[in-house]
Amino acid sequence: MYKPHVVVTGGAGFLGSHLCEMHLEKGFRVTCVDNLITGDLNNISHLFGNENFKFIKYDVTEFIHVPGRVDYIYHFASPASPVDYLKFPIQTLKVGSLGTHKALGLAKEKKAVFLLASTSEVYGDPLIHPQQEEYWGNVNPVGTRGVYDEAKRFAEALTMAYNRYHGVQTRIVRIFNTFGPRMRVNDGRAVPNFISQALAGNDITVYGDGQQTRSLCYVSDLIEGIFRLMMSSEVNPVNIGNPDELTVEEIAKEIVELTGSKSKIIYNPLPEDDPKVRQPDITRAKEILKWTPQVNRKEGLINTIEYFRKKLGY
Ligand code: UDP
Repeated sequence: MYKPHVVVTGGAGFLGSHLCEMHLEKGFRVTCVDNLITGDLNNISHLFGNENFKFIKYDVTEFIHVPGRVDYIYHFASPASPVDYLKFPIQTLKVGSLGTHKALGLAKEKKAVFLLASTSEVYGDPLIHPQQEEYWGNVNPVGTRGVYDEAKRFAEALTMAYNRYHGVQTRIVRIFNTFGPRMRVNDGRAVPNFISQALAGNDITVYGDGQQTRSLCYVSDLIEGIFRLMMSSEVNPVNIGNPDELTVEEIAKEIVELTGSKSKIIYNPLPEDDPKVRQPDITRAKEILKWTPQVNRKEGLINTIEYFRKKLGY
């Protein structure tokens, strides 16, 4: 029986590796493409024995060759944490622009359905709250975060153009803050920083006064929402995230409590253009995809802390 073939760019990353795994479990063939600048082979090494899985180490800003039929393409390649895209600003811009162009070209050639991993960062430092898909955003194009925000905004525009002018079947997911196993310990984001600091008994570095908010979604919920979007026929962007909003200081306190750590919270300078609030309006996802997040934050954090404990050898 024919097994549909999925290509995941950025497939060795946090979200990409969960997508690869989930599609293999559902009986798809999966080709994972990653240049490993922020991806990690440890995220996919358990899949190497699977005859339906193939890994290609490759930079998708160059022409992408994939032999045979391809049915679905998930374009997830990109540095995605603020620390990573400050470290790799040009690569971030290139993979969002040139990489999206190549991945869309592959979708056009293979008549595959294409899904773009976009982001809540397209809303920038938002002036409306919660953020609904109709909001156009408040982005500083020349700030240090602009490399990611503008790359993703360009990627969305290119995706819509391939849909309108080449008839490629496209989907756009705007991903809000997500956490879970396989986040890189040193990716610089709040959750991995706080967990590794708490486990090591080091100070917890809250940036600014910690009153900025984020809404945390557990990875399995996000992956399910993205799969449903791919299998739907929705072309317009859809927010996927958990509206469970709290301040960064509250996140830090909860992690200290759940790890049983004696770490104390310290307050460091706030990075440039750090959004003050963020919460997804998921009305569209609920209506179109019949999707809502299922995993509560505490349960998700306990799983993630367990993963970090093992990874760090505590
Ligand atoms: N943050 C923090 N301490 C850290 C890392 C991040 O207080 O060690 C803050 C950061 O300034 C932001 C929020 O936590 O306000 C979420 O940051 P993250 O890097 O996780 O992702 P973002 O939502 O900004 O893309």
